[in-house]
Amino acid sequence: MSAPASFRSNLELLLSHEAIQKRVQELGQRITADYQGRTPHLIAILKGACIFLSDLVRNIPLPLSLDFIAVSSYGASTKSSGVVRITKDLDSSIEGRDVILIEDILDTGLTLSYLQDYLVNRRPASLKICALLNKPARRIKEVHADYIGFDIPDKFVVGYGLDVGQKYRNLPDICVVIDPNADIH
Ligand code: 5GP
Repeated sequence: MSAPASFRSNLELLLSHEAIQKRVQELGQRITADYQGRTPHLIAILKGACIFLSDLVRNIPLPLSLDFIAVSSYGASTKSSGVVRITKDLDSSIEGRDVILIEDILDTGLTLSYLQDYLVNRRPASLKICALLNKPARRIKEVHADYIGFDIPDKFVVGYGLDVGQKYRNLPDICVVIDPNADIH
C-alpha cells in the first residue's frame, strides 16, 4: 500500500522496498554462511538501523543475540557535526563475543570509526560491520565495512528507518529528499 501523495511530495524513489528486501536477504545469507557454528551478537545503532536490523535477523537462521547503542547524530539538520557522543550504551558485555555492528548508512565514517574503537576496547572475539547504505563520496574517516547493501550517490536519503527531523522512518522504501529544508519543522 503506498503512502498518501502529500507524504511523498518532497521525495524521489531511490531503492524500492522489493530491492531492499532482496538485498537484505542476500546479506542475511552471507552472514549465515560466515557465522556457521557461532552465535553472532548484533548491535544496532539507534534509531536509524532498527528497521534494517529487524528484517536482517529474520534472514539469519542461527542462534543470535541483540543489543542497541545510540549516538548523537544530525538532530534536525542534514549536516554532520562530526561530534559523536554515546547517548545509550550497551546493555551487556561484548567480551569474547562475535559482534556485528549494524548501521543504516556509512557516510563520512566518523560514527562508525568512533564506535569501532569503542567496541574493540571492550575486547570482543571478533567485530564486523554491516551497513545497509554506503556513500563513498562523503568519506572523511576510512572505515572497512564487511557487509554493504548498496553504494548510493551523495544525496540525502530517508525511509526504511532513516529520517529527516524524525519524519519518514516508516517509509518502506528509500527515497532522496528533494528539498531537505522543507521537511524540518
Ligand atoms: P557518518 O558518521 O558516517 O557521517 O554518519 C552516519 C550517520 O549519519 C547515519 O547513521 C545517519 O544517522 C546519518 N546520515 C548520513 N547520511 C544520511 C542520509 O543521507 N540520510 C539520513 N537520514 N541520515 C544520514
